[in-house]
Amino acid sequence: HLHVRYATAEGVEAVVDTGHFHPEAILWQRLADYRAAGGYRLLAACQAGEVDFAALCEAFEHAGLRGLGGAGFPIFRKWQAVRAEPGPRYAVINADEGEPGTFKDRHYLEHEPHRFLEGALVGAWAVEAEALYIYLRDEYPGLHRVLTEAIAELEAGGLVLPDYIVLRRGAGAYICGEESALIESLEGKPGKPRHRPPFVAQRGLFGRPTLVNNVETVYWVPRIWEQGADWFAAQGRHGRQGLRSFSVSGRVARPGVHLAPAGITLAELLEEYCGGMAEGHRLAGYLPGGASGGILPASKADIPLDFDTLQEHGCFIGSAAIIVLSDQDDLKAVATNLLGFFADESCGQCTPCRVGTEKMLTLLERDEWDVEQLERLARVMADASICGLGQAAHNPVTSLLRDFCGELEARQLIAKG
Ligand code: SF4
Repeated sequence: HLHVRYATAEGVEAVVDTGHFHPEAILWQRLADYRAAGGYRLLAACQAGEVDFAALCEAFEHAGLRGLGGAGFPIFRKWQAVRAEPGPRYAVINADEGEPGTFKDRHYLEHEPHRFLEGALVGAWAVEAEALYIYLRDEYPGLHRVLTEAIAELEAGGLVLPDYIVLRRGAGAYICGEESALIESLEGKPGKPRHRPPFVAQRGLFGRPTLVNNVETVYWVPRIWEQGADWFAAQGRHGRQGLRSFSVSGRVARPGVHLAPAGITLAELLEEYCGGMAEGHRLAGYLPGGASGGILPASKADIPLDFDTLQEHGCFIGSAAIIVLSDQDDLKAVATNLLGFFADESCGQCTPCRVGTEKMLTLLERDEWDVEQLERLARVMADASICGLGQAAHNPVTSLLRDFCGELEARQLIAKG
């Protein structure tokens, strides 16, 4: 169970055991309290014409806010791309937080649903959307209740027209976190990713230009506006800009959501935010981006955790889900667990992924790994799969083969040399 700490509007610190989340037991900020603290001022200013679209884009370009669902695309560019397309347009929030090890969106929705809703509505205003859809992970039933009540508060308060915000439940498929599969699902079809182009900004929901944003990305919109683009841009470490909400799990003393500067290293994150390793455990490696971001060894605990640097090391940060492994974790078990997950979650639409994930799992379950076959299969999956699931599913395996040779040899999974 994860204990998440946060500060309420009254300055009271609450500690929440997310494993026992219950809508009645949680202190979420109600509309009246959010408005009393200055909430919905940005939305009102946009609607009244006091803030224009160009000024909004300029502020968020300066702040450097990037998409925090995984892709890291600057938010203002998405707004511009969708707005440049002919209407009618839609806005969609991806709240299908399904990447293993990721729970930051849940944290923000549990505590500050109105700040999230304001950011989502500002995005919808920016692209002049006809409606705002929220696609919520079905494994978050408590949040469904929180959002239903928060949206009802907005409608009763006259801040949005009835039915402008449409809250939809997912059905437990990991692939529906992929934006085009999510849109298919919203349209009532099986959640299968689309070929691109056209991109969803051009042809998305019901064939119309669509803005798709992650929960945390829009959460930051009113917060950055309040505290200033300069303030956000001044955060960050090792030459990076902004803040990241790291979902930290695994062998650490204090797992949970830790808000830390972008570009922080794992060693710094462990020491300053996580209370170090769990007792009796020694750092062996870590997953910097959930199941699909690859695995890095302890010797790479000093590289900045951010979009570009990790790519140079063959990994990616994705939604900043950090899973910490220790000397007591079995690398073969880690790899088979992750490939088993991808094999289960593959939508089955294309052969390199449907057959490739199953085949890779079978190869990993052997007593000795056939490195050549694994590498050839990884290349085919990466090159020929339709979407990111199949393209990245090999990452845990290729990163182990690249960075953990000594451990794999000691475990007699690969031959020496
Ligand atoms: Fe479906 Fe996998 Fe192909 Fe993506 S890569 S479309 S999940 S089969």
